[in-house]
Amino acid sequence: MRYISTRGEAPALSFEEVVLTGMASDGGLYVPETLPSFTRDALADMAGLSYADIAFRVIKPFVGGEIDDTTLHQLVAEAYATFSHDAVVPLRQLDANHFLLEQFHGPTLAFKDVALQLLGRILDHFLKKRGERAVIMGATSGDTGSAAIEGCRHCDNLDIFILHPHRRVSEVQRRQMTTVLADNVFNVAIEGNFDDAQAMVKASFADQTFLNGTRLVAVNSINWARIMAQMVYYVAAGVALGAPRREVSFCVPSANFGNVFAGYMAYKMGLPVKQFIVATNANDILHRTLADNDFSKRELAATLAPSMDIVVSSNFERLLFDAYDRDGRAVAALLERFQHEPAALADAPLAKLRQKFSSHSVDDATILEVIREAHRRTGELLDPHTATGYRAAERARADAATPMITLATAHPAKFADAVIEAGFPGVELPPHMEGLLEREERFAVLPAELAAVQRFVAENRR
Ligand SMILES: *Cc1c(COP(=O)(O)O)cnc(C)c1O
Repeated sequence: MRYISTRGEAPALSFEEVVLTGMASDGGLYVPETLPSFTRDALADMAGLSYADIAFRVIKPFVGGEIDDTTLHQLVAEAYATFSHDAVVPLRQLDANHFLLEQFHGPTLAFKDVALQLLGRILDHFLKKRGERAVIMGATSGDTGSAAIEGCRHCDNLDIFILHPHRRVSEVQRRQMTTVLADNVFNVAIEGNFDDAQAMVKASFADQTFLNGTRLVAVNSINWARIMAQMVYYVAAGVALGAPRREVSFCVPSANFGNVFAGYMAYKMGLPVKQFIVATNANDILHRTLADNDFSKRELAATLAPSMDIVVSSNFERLLFDAYDRDGRAVAALLERFQHEPAALADAPLAKLRQKFSSHSVDDATILEVIREAHRRTGELLDPHTATGYRAAERARADAATPMITLATAHPAKFADAVIEAGFPGVELPPHMEGLLEREERFAVLPAELAAVQRFVAENRR
């Protein structure tokens, strides 16, 4: 399996290279050169298998033989053994034909665990094989940092440095990162805001000389392996509800578009999907683009669903590449314009996207209303991200006959403030997180200066 860039100018890479690389050298994102496909029989055969077994079958063609089957199966099994539910990503029925896909049973209670538990293990495997070590650097305003730390804490060949803005992440989110006391985990509180932290990570990727030749690896959602791991639960949920005999639809609370794009890949590989609904909060670039062809940046709004607070949706580029019939030049030109001024998609690609994708945007007041309404109607307590999906599924649904699967991307305990604001007394943390507020923390506080941060990384990596 080879991987090519969405902007058409970077060299094609193998799976191993693409996992270790992150962004392509032409500024694009890597996608498979050709997509494997599942026959109806292959899909039907997956019904009733364990999540790890389905994951092995879905992922294997993308790995292209670069990890032997026994090892791949073991990595997958270990990754999903960290989840506290035997189904890993279980389905729960909301009404006659609406289901929740619970993605929050991993170590940090949000869907990013599904991909990062596997990515850490795959990276460690390749590094060990090569006799190399690598450094991971990332900036986080919350979810991604803790999921990346949990995914890498047992990886002998990786050191992970996560920068968060000092005193600007919630206590639960900070403690999910800073109470992991593993030797290879380094938390850095930057005396600045999230943009300062992100800018320093970007600058470090652009010029890696401070690491003297050690590889710097990205684990943000542009890493192909994250998309690959996320395809699995679409297939697992689809076959559980009757695919390939019957079509299903998905509604996905979205920001960087990595989650729903994985669903689209599963569809392109043969999973019968009728409709994808993209749910956004007030940061609605995806909704504006799909509904009004308004592909433009707007100022960031801080919402009750902070993990969906974005200005630019990085993985949307992968969908554009498909919509523009893999014309890397056209994608590069569109994104170049978008960087500087409001842009719009050409008619044909937009029409193609609208055949499969619908969208709906949900503001904060509605999020609170939906948390109350869903609880009244189903007894389920939704987190604010999932609430955007619940409402979007009802408002943008094409038909009632096709099962609708809304992705529950976080556990309500992780965003208890919003749940309390909606009028509930609070939410208990799951058993494995009890005592979080009493545990010992470890983190460094550094000024928002690139040289200081890079010195810290260079001195502490093992
Ligand atoms: C990251 C995240 C999202 C958005 O997912 P994308 O892949 O960026 O679209 C939604 N909900 C939660 C809870 C998240 O952590």
